[in-house]
Amino acid sequence: MSDLIRKSASDLADGLATGATTSVELTQAHLDRIAAVDGAVHAFLHVDAEGALAQAAAADERRAEGATRSALDGVPVAVKDVLATEGLPTTCGSKILQGWVPPYDATVVRRLKDAGLPILGKTNMDEFAMGSSTEHSAYGPTHNPWDLDRIPGGSGGGSAAAVAAFEAPLALGTDTGGSIRQPGAVTGTVGVKPTYGGVSRYGLVAMANSLDQVGPVTRTVLDSALLHEVIGGHDPLDSTSIDRPLPGLVAAARQGAAGDLSGVRLGVVKELSGEGYQAGVLARFQESIDLMVGLGAEVVEVECPSFVHALATYYLIMPSEASSNLAKFDAMRYGLRVLPDGVDSPSAEDVMRASRDAGFGDEVKRRIILGTYALSSGYYDAFYGQAQKVRTLITRDFDAAFERADVLLSPTAPTTAFKLGEKLDDPIAMYLNDLATIPANLSGVPGISLPSGLADEDGLPAGIQVLAPALADDRVYRVGAALETALTEKWGGPLLDRAPALEGGQ
Ligand code: GLN
Repeated sequence: MSDLIRKSASDLADGLATGATTSVELTQAHLDRIAAVDGAVHAFLHVDAEGALAQAAAADERRAEGATRSALDGVPVAVKDVLATEGLPTTCGSKILQGWVPPYDATVVRRLKDAGLPILGKTNMDEFAMGSSTEHSAYGPTHNPWDLDRIPGGSGGGSAAAVAAFEAPLALGTDTGGSIRQPGAVTGTVGVKPTYGGVSRYGLVAMANSLDQVGPVTRTVLDSALLHEVIGGHDPLDSTSIDRPLPGLVAAARQGAAGDLSGVRLGVVKELSGEGYQAGVLARFQESIDLMVGLGAEVVEVECPSFVHALATYYLIMPSEASSNLAKFDAMRYGLRVLPDGVDSPSAEDVMRASRDAGFGDEVKRRIILGTYALSSGYYDAFYGQAQKVRTLITRDFDAAFERADVLLSPTAPTTAFKLGEKLDDPIAMYLNDLATIPANLSGVPGISLPSGLADEDGLPAGIQVLAPALADDRVYRVGAALETALTEKWGGPLLDRAPALEGGQ
């Protein structure tokens, strides 16, 4: 196995800058790794070897001419299959979009290209980003590189597994209720959900518009900051995009890595760290807090009483928005078209019904039904309207908590990775994985998840989540990098070095 694939994106960028390596060499190394292990991991739905190598060759030419475009010019990246990529299939993990090749790039994809990052391919996901395990992908699940019989989290399990298995140094994910952070926690990787509106969603196939955010998936906090600076910032094509400059994220990560958290007030959210959390997950969480206290931080306990309603609120608002978003998949405009059996001259409605029946999986249908019900005239006030009110209460809890603390902390996910199949037939058990991540989506605040250590007898990783007030994304990088430095020192190296070997020579 090439040493190149184990390096962080920032080290790869340094190697390119000094001439120690070329973009073609390191892009090829990652493509070789994909060829060796992705049969077992199944992180990718589509690999674009030819396109990635052509972009890498162009990056090397630019560098030779002294015309590099960004700090990450020439460093390859993988992209979640919910983002439109011109000329590359985009399925959202659904049969209904099988064969659809978008005629345009999502803004974040365009920004990757403009910054010179070769795109390795598209990563697997739960269908339309609904799920916590990637088992709802119509193309088969992704496997956790720590244990191939276990889930890599979801919905962005493909991006997290690709990064954890050293198939890509960087990836993009999307987080509507936790789909960047929870996969990060169970694969021992780093993931960031930026402030709502901080990263463009133009070209993101929407699940729930008031919750969705695109963000980085990486192995280090600094790498997330580097990638976030490439994709973030105002986009006139997205009306929800915030029209002001990003705070200095890379600078904040570098400052944090120096290891001084003097005067930083850490708020431990009482409602997000007790019952329902695995003992080892809580133990690693407490150790992380102790380490940060050792760096000068102080701890305050904060109460966010409305957070106990976050899951119920989310599972009304998200399906409501999703049911209306998914109405556009009607067999007339994109992808799959199925003619109903035994109907002589089917009407448009017959074709829509047959196509949607064949094209959507069970979880998507479940949420369309739930959302349609919650929005229907007789029930709107009781369900959707009520959920919006509770959403306001959750935001007020955040406001009050951020008066007392600079950042809020909790475990990212209640448990380590569970076995494939274990929760597939129990939607409520699946939904409970997002207990700690959902409040941030409901109120738009940014959050990072980073590994906190190995948390059970099977040696599986857990994550810690750091949340900051809206627009203060720099804080999650500063605190995240400080903790990462302390933990890496304690472990004697990155946590992923402890992941069991994968076939293909890890
Ligand atoms: N697991 C959550 C859900 O199923 C979150 C999904 C996401 O963030 N895209 O809705």
